[in-house]
Amino acid sequence: MILKTIGFILRAIKFRESDLILTVLSRDYGKISLIAKGARRTESKFGAALDLLTLSELVFYDAENLKLLKEASIIEDYRAIKSDYERLTLALHTAHLLNQLVEEHHPDRTIFEFLQGFFGELSSVKNLELAAVAVKLKLMRALGIAPRLSSCARGRHRLTDELWFSPQSGGLVCAACHQAGDTRLSPRLAHNLKMLLGLSWDKLDRLTLSEDEITLAHRLLDEFMGFHLKAPHMPSK
Ligand SMILES: [Zn+2]
Repeated sequence: MILKTIGFILRAIKFRESDLILTVLSRDYGKISLIAKGARRTESKFGAALDLLTLSELVFYDAENLKLLKEASIIEDYRAIKSDYERLTLALHTAHLLNQLVEEHHPDRTIFEFLQGFFGELSSVKNLELAAVAVKLKLMRALGIAPRLSSCARGRHRLTDELWFSPQSGGLVCAACHQAGDTRLSPRLAHNLKMLLGLSWDKLDRLTLSEDEITLAHRLLDEFMGFHLKAPHMPSK
């Protein structure tokens, strides 16, 4: 069966003499692997359509254990991102995270639209440090696993100014529920995390986080994502 979709090239690994195995986040079929025969030859018919992060239209032959790419053409190459080292780094990191968190063959428009929206805005985002925190929060929300930031994740209690964060419990926890091992954080940072999750990419600059707050935010969100990655049954939505 011949299928057609559009998708982002998340990863490409060398295969055999001149082929590539691509990991693609497709709009219609979720994350899929495609074999692109001859893609590493200089005269490859696929050209730059298989470059990392590029959004391409893809026509592939779909058999039970094999998906073979037949045609690929560029829809958006995101040149403005790729020509800026820091933006490119963040985009690659996002693609890598997404690849780790998304299972194959779970079609999900929300995830696709998250990535399309982010790449569309990334060239004009001013504060890349804030964007790097926001992208983790927004990606988790798109996956349906965003940390609970509005009430206590352990007992649904109302939150006061005494706050902790627990990756295992799924977000902020209150003074009554916190346990050894939870990380204390300031109400200011908790508020800013909630704002980062809610603000659109072009409005992130309304917030300011200190270096220490950004470092702590990354640590907590990485722990949170790590916990979900290790969980035996990650919710697909
Ligand atoms: Zn509580």
